[in-house]
Order: sequence, then C-alpha cells, then structure tokens
Amino acid sequence: MVYVTGFRCFKCGKHHLPDEIENKPIPRCSNCNSGLDAEYDYDSIRKSLLTDPFKRASPTHWKYWAFLPVRDLSNIITMGEGGTPLLENDSLTKDIGCRRLLIKYEAMNPTGSFKDRGSSLEITKAMEYGKRRVVLASTGNMGASVAAYAAFAGLECIVYVPNIVASAKIKQIKAYGAEIRFVDGDYSQAMDKAEEYVMEHRDSFLTGDYPWRGEGTKTVGMEIADQLYWSVPDVVIAPVGNGTLIWGIFEAFNDMFAVGIIERKPAIFGVQVDACRPVVDAWENGVDDIIAVENPQTVATAIACGDPIDGLGALRAVRETGGQAVSVSDAEVIEARDFLAGNGIFVEPSGAVAYAGARRVSGVLEGKTVVCMATGHGLKDMWGIE
Ligand SMILES: *Cc1c(COP(=O)(O)O)cnc(C)c1O
Repeated sequence: MVYVTGFRCFKCGKHHLPDEIENKPIPRCSNCNSGLDAEYDYDSIRKSLLTDPFKRASPTHWKYWAFLPVRDLSNIITMGEGGTPLLENDSLTKDIGCRRLLIKYEAMNPTGSFKDRGSSLEITKAMEYGKRRVVLASTGNMGASVAAYAAFAGLECIVYVPNIVASAKIKQIKAYGAEIRFVDGDYSQAMDKAEEYVMEHRDSFLTGDYPWRGEGTKTVGMEIADQLYWSVPDVVIAPVGNGTLIWGIFEAFNDMFAVGIIERKPAIFGVQVDACRPVVDAWENGVDDIIAVENPQTVATAIACGDPIDGLGALRAVRETGGQAVSVSDAEVIEARDFLAGNGIFVEPSGAVAYAGARRVSGVLEGKTVVCMATGHGLKDMWGIE
C-alpha cells in the first residue's frame, strides 16, 4: 500500500500493520473486534502530492489516491465514480436562510449513490487479493453498487437483503447479475449472514461497512474542499445510517488538514430519522453507548440501520467538530424530497434527510456556508409519487 502505515482500532487503539489486516476475512481489531481506521504517512503525501497541478486537476474519486489504501495503482477498478456536482441556487439558500447552501449531488455516481466510491476501492482490493466472489449485506444501494463493480471486474456477487428494501433497488441488484438472498430480519441479521458466509468460503471477499469502504468514502469530503477552491465550508450535513458516510467526511477533512491543504475543518452535523435515531440519542445523552433499535420502519430505508456499525465514528465526527446530531420525521423527509425535486434535484427519501435536517437546524446556520449531502438518486425509490 502506497502511503498507508497501518490500521488503528477505534475503541482500544491497538495498531495493526497493513499485513495483519490484509486477507483477514473480517477486517476488524484483533484485540477487541471493533472497527479500524487507516493511518497514512502524511509527510510523504505532503511532499509528493500537494503541487499546483494536483490542486487544479478536476475532482474525481481517484484524484485522491494518496489517501486510499491501494497497493498498485495500475490495477484499480473504476467506473468513473466521484466528481459529482456541488449545486447551488437562490431558492434553496433562501429556504434555509444561510449564506450559501450547496448540495453535493451524489446521485450522479455510476449506480446512483455515493456507495460507488467505497465499492471502487473494495473491488480493487478484492482483485488485489485474488478473490472470486464478493459478499455483503445491504439495504439496497450498497448491494446495487457492489453488484455493478463486481460484474464490471468479472467477480461473482452475493447480496444478503433484509426485509425493508425498496423494490426498484432489488431490480437494480438483479440487473447486474448478483445473487440475492433474502433474510427474514433486519440489516444487522443480514450482516451476520454475510460474515458467516465469508468465514466458510475463503475465496470470498466481504464488502460493506469495514475499513476499505470507509476509506473509499472519504473522497466525497475531499471533493467538497476541492470544489470550493480548497476552502472549507462552515458546516457539512450528512444523513447517518451505519455512519460510514459521516465518518468518511470527518476523516477526509482530518487528512486534508494533516497535510496542510486546508486550514480549518467544518462542523459536521448528522441527521437520522425519528424511527431510527440511536446516534442522536447517544449524542443528546452525552454517552458512548449506542443502544440498538430493532427493526426500524421509515421511508428512509437506506438509513434504517438500527445498530450502526460506524455509530461511534459518527458520534466522534459530530462531537469533535462542534456539530450536532438531530432527527427528523418521515413527513419532513418527504417534504424535503419534494422541495429539492421542485428545484430540479431529485433524490430518494434518504437522499433528502440531510436537507430536512438543515431545515430543522436552520437557526444555527445563519451567515454560514453549508453543504448538504444528497446521497441517492430519486429514481431508486419514488415513494409516494403517483
Ligand atoms: C447508504 C446510504 C446512506 C447512509 O450512509 P451510511 O454510510 O450508512 O451512514 C444515506 N443515503 C443513501 C441514499 C445511502 O445509500
């Protein structure tokens, strides 16, 4: 791996060398089984990367390769993910009442959600390790994304799907030729199945909210600064499902700060829905315990993660940046979805959650430059549109 020096455990802080993590069927801490965070050689990145041509090159996912844990850049699997627009119009800015309101429109990725950033890296790793097949649990978008990249790279793909997934997403997964296995249970139970499978089949690569995906997701944060000519917004607002997106954004700003390409960091706000708000509860109560919600029901199916894998990461992102965690109702989500669509920006319900959150906290956004994540395409789930 080019600039990766190791992986540190979120919880106990244990450091792992890259070789210890490579080829572990389930990449978690060898001491306490928690999530891992990649660490980089920032001095080398600073010396070799931060040139004028780098700063001026158009933003794309792989532009930020130095911050991704890959071994060999000549073998990356890419379908042109990233480089998504940062959209701004008067009507949205007026609606929120801040200085500038920008929408990072992740629907423009190859399969219609930001998940493609993580998938591009994961499938690159699966190929590096010589695997035959990728396996994951998904609420829909990750399954569609991994299925597409696996098909593109010539790998088999098995997707464990819980009982809440929107039917258009099932069709999208099927279209890419993946095998779908329905699980009578929620997302956490689907994840257990995927992990069991890779323990029994060592020619398979586990994808999902593990370190590779988190690292791949960072590039969305890097693009935000890049698209603002390497300045930093005051606030970034993201929906929180498993917490991987918000953690990736937090890490992106930390990485950029560490190499000196930005001079400050934004406050990061996390938004959940009322029916599934374990991170918001922990934040409000000032505790580290994330209490799982069983079988959550909401229109925002992509964030119905009752036991968020990167929940602690999401909490840290909000706490360490002076952000907030808030929840919104399903009705507010649909109103936000309709308002965005009325401004030409069509997202699925989960894709409108951050915007609904911006409306909720608009009082504290006055005078600020705010970026809202619009995470998935409206065509994926047209809930309530007749
Ligand atoms: C996956 C997803 C989310 C939530 O992201 P996490 O990384 O699980 O927090 C939000 N919106 C959409 C459309 C998604 O596909």
